[in-house]
Amino acid sequence: MSSNEQGQSFLASVDHYFDKAAALSSHPEGLLKQIKVCNSVYSFRFPIKTDDGYEVIEAWRAQHSHHKLPVKGGIRYSEHANEAEVIALASLMTYKCAVVDVPFGGAKGAVKIDAKQYGADQLQRITRRYTAELIKKNFIGPALDVPAPDFGTGPREMAWIADTYQTFHPEQIDALGCVTGKSVGQGGIRGRTEATGLGVFYGTREICDNAEDMAAIGLERGLEGKSFVIQGLGNVGYHAAKFFIEGGAHLVGVAEYEGGISSKSGIDLDSLLAHRKETGSILGFPGADDLPSREAALELPCDILIPAALENQITDQNAARIQAKIIVEAANGPVTAPAESVLRQKGVMIVPDFYINAGGVTVSYFEWLKNLSRVRFGRIEKRFEQATFDRILSIIERETGKPLSAEERLTAARGADETDLVYSGLEETMITAYQHIRELGKRKSIEDLRTAAFLSAIDKVAVSYMEMGIFP
Ligand code: NAD
Repeated sequence: MSSNEQGQSFLASVDHYFDKAAALSSHPEGLLKQIKVCNSVYSFRFPIKTDDGYEVIEAWRAQHSHHKLPVKGGIRYSEHANEAEVIALASLMTYKCAVVDVPFGGAKGAVKIDAKQYGADQLQRITRRYTAELIKKNFIGPALDVPAPDFGTGPREMAWIADTYQTFHPEQIDALGCVTGKSVGQGGIRGRTEATGLGVFYGTREICDNAEDMAAIGLERGLEGKSFVIQGLGNVGYHAAKFFIEGGAHLVGVAEYEGGISSKSGIDLDSLLAHRKETGSILGFPGADDLPSREAALELPCDILIPAALENQITDQNAARIQAKIIVEAANGPVTAPAESVLRQKGVMIVPDFYINAGGVTVSYFEWLKNLSRVRFGRIEKRFEQATFDRILSIIERETGKPLSAEERLTAARGADETDLVYSGLEETMITAYQHIRELGKRKSIEDLRTAAFLSAIDKVAVSYMEMGIFP
């Protein structure tokens, strides 16, 4: 399948999920159509100078929904980028933001390049030119459209974008809020790096804490003691695995680009990473067995399978052999629509991507708030809280006659810093969103979480349009 065909098929599957959930809603047809369509797509080309002449680069920015502004979504650098894929990803951003109550519309951008083929200077020129093109058309700005990193981009590209925007708008006091995912020194926020993996952990822990839902798939309540397999030890996969292990789950299988490994007695994550750094591979890790292929890891017996690498990993070719009871879609689109029907027939619970990997956009929202307020979270209240807790502890000590050790006092009388507040806000977001999806699913007798999550998102976007008075 060509990249364009893949993009079309991705968009068709997002639209299919939308239609399935929309059929269960009571909103007027015109309103549902408005929610589904992509509002604006800016498709453009620009030249860059190369060693042997000029190259024309193709790029896009899609703003799927303007029901809330700014719109938000990453920018990917990929030689496979195409317009349909950008629109599909922008649509998912609308539903993702709505599900976790992040007050943004959905957007996505792409530059059709293989970033590995360009030096840092060329990438900087491409990024700055892409930003300038967006500025010309009012497709970027803290109140309009706020990009973030995605495949092939990171804090470095975000810093170039922020700097270009500030150069064009030196008078704008909020200019740094034109992009998120920046490094902390450039106006970023602590906790953003691990946010998506941490959100995957908070969401999954909440799901596993429901005894009734766990019993329905033959599992005990609680994340502690559950076995899990992870595909991809990149940013999302590594952090998700780390927090799962800290939460008492056992890592029994790993798939990476070079192959797969398994160990019933558990894999030590940091030793595995050290082994990979030393040997260049996860294979040959002491205490674990090498699997015949990386794909074989997906089929290992386990309670939870976390695909955290890329899209289209569980298809109708391997779905029947999946043994996990829960699939947590940490990556975007890892389970295809045909695979989903096979898995549902097997009674597998699928936790949808646009809910479970929403930790990144949630913390990006906190970063944007920080940029608008121009103050680090916790800076104002941390010492005051600490002093207040300290005084309360002194009263307790005096009244009970039991003095606390210095360590106990330090733990109990600690004011919240930026990381504490970001973690707490993310935990609250993931738990509240899940409870809402679950409750909606129960009320409407919807069996799968994806349809319930889509319906939750559709309802929230619909309410925005109705409150604007555009629809009755
Ligand atoms: P990453 O590039 O840091 O990590 C991906 C990892 O997967 C790499 O270690 C890579 O070697 C591995 N990999 C690639 N192909 C593989 C294969 N066939 N089998 C096994 N492993 C393979 O990327 P990331 O930021 O962790 O993103 C992973 C997924 O999560 C993507 O689908 C992305 O769109 C999605 N996502 C990321 C974020 C975020 O904040 N980073 C937010 C939401 C969704």
